[in-house]
Amino acid sequence: MTKNYTITQFRKEYSNDDVCLDKIFRLKFDGLKNCPSCKQPVMFKRVTKRTCYYCPRCYHQIHPLKNTIFEKTTTPLTLWFYAMYLFAASKNGVSAKEIERQIGVTYKTAFRMLHKIRSLLENDLELLDGIIELDETFVGGKNKNRHRDKKVQGCQGRSFKDKTPVFGMLQRDGKVKAFVVPNTNTESLMPHAFSHIAENATVCTDEWYAYEPLRHKYTHEQIQHNKGEYANGNITTNRVENYWSNVKRTLNGTYITVSKKYLQNYVNEVSFKFNHRKDKNLFDILINKV
Ligand SMILES: [Zn+2]
Repeated sequence: MTKNYTITQFRKEYSNDDVCLDKIFRLKFDGLKNCPSCKQPVMFKRVTKRTCYYCPRCYHQIHPLKNTIFEKTTTPLTLWFYAMYLFAASKNGVSAKEIERQIGVTYKTAFRMLHKIRSLLENDLELLDGIIELDETFVGGKNKNRHRDKKVQGCQGRSFKDKTPVFGMLQRDGKVKAFVVPNTNTESLMPHAFSHIAENATVCTDEWYAYEPLRHKYTHEQIQHNKGEYANGNITTNRVENYWSNVKRTLNGTYITVSKKYLQNYVNEVSFKFNHRKDKNLFDILINKV
């Protein structure tokens, strides 16, 4: 079994801004065999003291930080990389306060950096297939365990003043995708399901009325939570519920107040860590998304 990527390895590998920039250049332009300007096969060289490379034949310049989360930053790349290392290494999230303390930037900068990092983690378009568990939860606010309340048959998606609904789809032995939704009605949930789940897949849900249309496109299995049933052979939503506990642990533990505006980003962070929970070097996966 390979070991986790340690802080010692990380420090050795990314000891200064030059190697960090070089990493980004390689990630973004490794496939560049010919200069885009003079079309000749060249080895790009670094412009001294600038975050820029040039073609030794025609002096065409390439700025690898352009269109990345590092564009126009005044924070050294080594600190960015370290923040990304901490982000990747933390199981339940790392707070802006912690980044402020560890890398010595202001709270505002730390907060912005974390959101830039989270912005790399959007849900992709790859379809979920096989058996997929679907469920919703409510996050934020003060009341705990409102989960069962919403399961009143025929109820029109309740409003939970201080809580925000999140809709999750988890492929067994695969990945999870979760979306912040305005409410838990059919119109809010089904577009996500239909655009992220492959046709003819099997979906497991509880008896919530909003899941009704699933049967038109999928094999729909239902668990009767209102009858106190939690698993019926293979029919269960236990795994997606386990994912919700990760979401809640992160949101309640590390990020004390999360505004609705940023909630999707935090959910993406939890999904990213959940989907890569068996990977040993999350930093590498993260930096590859830059
Ligand atoms: Zn050139």
